[in-house]
Amino acid sequence: MMWDALVIGAGPAGSVTARELARRGRRVLLVDKATFPRTKVCGCCLNGAAVKTLERIGLGHVLEGAVQLNRVNIAAGSRSANVRLMRGVALSRDVFDTRLIESAVQAGVEFRPNTMIPLSRDLTGSEFEAGVVIVASGLTGGDAIPEPGSRIGGGVVLPASASDRFFTPGTIYMATGRNGYVGLVRVEDDRLDIAAAFDPAFVKSSGGLGPAAETILQETDWPVPSGLATAAWKGTPALTRRPTRLAGHKYFVVGDAAGYVEPFTGEGMAWAVMSAAALAPIAAQEWHPGLIREWEATHRRIVARRQHLCRVVSRVLRSPMLTGLAVRALEVMPMLARPVVLRLNRPDTPLNVVPT
Ligand SMILES: Cc1cc2nc3c(=O)[nH]c(=O)nc-3n(C[C@H](O)[C@H](O)[C@H](O)COP(=O)(O)OP(=O)(O)OC[C@H]3O[C@@H](n4cnc5c(N)ncnc54)[C@H](O)[C@@H]3O)c2cc1C
Repeated sequence: MMWDALVIGAGPAGSVTARELARRGRRVLLVDKATFPRTKVCGCCLNGAAVKTLERIGLGHVLEGAVQLNRVNIAAGSRSANVRLMRGVALSRDVFDTRLIESAVQAGVEFRPNTMIPLSRDLTGSEFEAGVVIVASGLTGGDAIPEPGSRIGGGVVLPASASDRFFTPGTIYMATGRNGYVGLVRVEDDRLDIAAAFDPAFVKSSGGLGPAAETILQETDWPVPSGLATAAWKGTPALTRRPTRLAGHKYFVVGDAAGYVEPFTGEGMAWAVMSAAALAPIAAQEWHPGLIREWEATHRRIVARRQHLCRVVSRVLRSPMLTGLAVRALEVMPMLARPVVLRLNRPDTPLNVVPT
């Protein structure tokens, strides 16, 4: 057998798991169906927990040049509230994901882009045969089941020249509406990253992702970036999904493939890197069935609890009345958001870290 581990998917979850396994002396093959840089629908905001975890595992440098985030401005109708943030940064996914792959390769991982591996494929005797398989194939991979009524995602990155100067670097702008929300942030080269979650019926009745985003922005007092409706938006399947299994005989599931909750709190990459760093010491062990339970318990501790808070926030956002009340309360007393901000930014308990 050529490989100790095969990692399917080179997003943050896959690259970090691959690198951490290689740093533990494992022979690792990392594959992705895409070539990089690839387009990924994402708000591109890494919170304090993601930043701290990357630093702990010696990957702080991948954030070089990222925009420091100071606050999030949340709008509901004509009202808006400013909440101070802690230690977050904005970095485009083209740069972030490519740097993570480079770091994995530097640690000894072999990376093959443009390589699609159907998850049902039997790899025995093939060039991909490995002692353990890590499924890090994101929202569209894995066998996580979409929850009924889940929203879908959409995203686009506008050139700096085409986007309104109203949206200044260092602030996340979140426009909320009855049928979804739109987040806007400047990334390292001043482009405007736009990522959104919508009710699927609303996208259909609006005539597409771009017009849907325009409608939600028009309900606020904020300007609509020029060309927003006609830009080349990319969509996602249903966002909120629960996993059927987190591990099985000689495989582990990590990142979005292990379940996801719609992205208002902007935590998916933190969940991905924290759980990848925690999976590596488990997946690096000689295989025995007890590892399945170990990973299930670890995943529950690191991700499931955090996703619970995210679920509560997304339920509030389904109600225009509750969202309006929350924004009004935050307008008067921004400090009310502090416990949530603190909780979102706290990384997991110290990791079993390999020295750099
Ligand atoms: C609208 C929206 C906004 C978001 N905003 C934020 C935010 O601001 N902050 C934040 O932290 N998170 C955000 N997220 C979440 C974040 O994008 C994800 O949680 C994160 O990318 C998960 O990383 P991953 O490695 O699990 O999956 P991905 O990054 O999706 O990577 C999976 C990879 O697997 C590859 N792949 C899939 N199937 C196969 C196969 N069969 N064979 C080979 N390769 C395969 C894909 O090409 C892909 O490169 C947002 C998500 C959405 C939809």
